[in-house]
Amino acid sequence: MSGNRTFTMIKPDAVASGHIGGILEQICASGFKIVAMKYTKLSAEKAGEFYAVHSARPFYGELVSFMSSGPIVAAILEKDNAVEDFRKLIGATNPAEAAPGTIRAKYAKNIGENAVHGSDSDENAAIESSFHFAGTEIFL
Ligand code: UDP
Ligand code: MG
Repeated sequence: MSGNRTFTMIKPDAVASGHIGGILEQICASGFKIVAMKYTKLSAEKAGEFYAVHSARPFYGELVSFMSSGPIVAAILEKDNAVEDFRKLIGATNPAEAAPGTIRAKYAKNIGENAVHGSDSDENAAIESSFHFAGTEIFL
């Protein structure tokens, strides 16, 4: 059974390039309902904690500094089969490999500054959602 919620961030590159509106439009037009959302900025410490699973990877330092370099939009999205369908909507991590029309194909700069985050499992969607949102900030 797949769950019906996923967690996303519009990353600092896409926010700085003025793509918040275009990305939210595409997300909503694709059938996702926003159940929580905030415009915020991660400290380096919080970004490091969010991406702790990648702490041994060579790109970790760069990733943490990029993700804390400017404001982001964090959101919880609801749709049947949310995690898998959202990963399809955003496209591959490397925009050079992302399918045409996907959010990363349209807005990502490169494999690091790739416009959006999408949870990779129902379990991580729940962990990442509660990392960013209190229960009182989620509206069903
Ligand atoms: N990343 C990077 N270099 C890489 C792989 C990943 O800078 O070679 C960054 C990129 O911002 C990516 C994030 O680390 O979105 C998390 O990597 P993951 O493999 O989980 O990709 P995602 O799930 O975001 O597609
Ligand atoms: Mg991932």
